[in-house]
Amino acid sequence: MAQIQVWRPALRLAPVLATRHVFVASLQAMFWAALLMALMAAWPARAFTLSDGADVQCQFSRENTSGTATERWSNYQSLSERDPELGKAVAVVRFDPQGWPTIVIDAVAYKQSKGVMAAMWDFIFFHECAHAKDPKLSEIGANCAAYIEMQDRGLMNAIRFKDIEAAHLRIMTLPEQYGGNGMEFWRMTLDCVERERRHDPGSPVRSAQSAR
Ligand SMILES: [Zn+2]
Repeated sequence: MAQIQVWRPALRLAPVLATRHVFVASLQAMFWAALLMALMAAWPARAFTLSDGADVQCQFSRENTSGTATERWSNYQSLSERDPELGKAVAVVRFDPQGWPTIVIDAVAYKQSKGVMAAMWDFIFFHECAHAKDPKLSEIGANCAAYIEMQDRGLMNAIRFKDIEAAHLRIMTLPEQYGGNGMEFWRMTLDCVERERRHDPGSPVRSAQSAR
């Protein structure tokens, strides 16, 4: 009997404790949500981690606006949830009506392939960043700028060159603005890099700059 009397209040307390626990848990959730929002507000653009471990952000500067391009990482469980903006690409740039660029990245493709395609992902980031910096830049121009950026950062060597080249050559067909196929896209890219290094005013990068 005595034991039962002792147990009864304890049983009645149990739901109260449980309620308090849920309350504490929701407070903790609110705290983390607030902290996350504060972090996002302080650092809305995120950063892209290059294969050498350096974090980069895509800085752009135009006549009326400058800043860091926003990054949006598209995460999904099934293909139907994939950001439709991506289309067939693993990364794209979109501009809002004010011209602010957002780089959309396929987070699933990135996670799956960054191990074997580390140099290519660096290249992809710089390609999209080149578009973000200059909305008028052609696809060849964006590839050209990416190549030069990687060379300047010491991210290019013979093996990386071959990896990036192979990733291009694997693509059998591409829209016209990419030269129609991966082989032609890569050939035009290398041609542009050469012209750019010679400071040829007709290179796709320079003609986009002068077209402004
Ligand atoms: Zn592009």
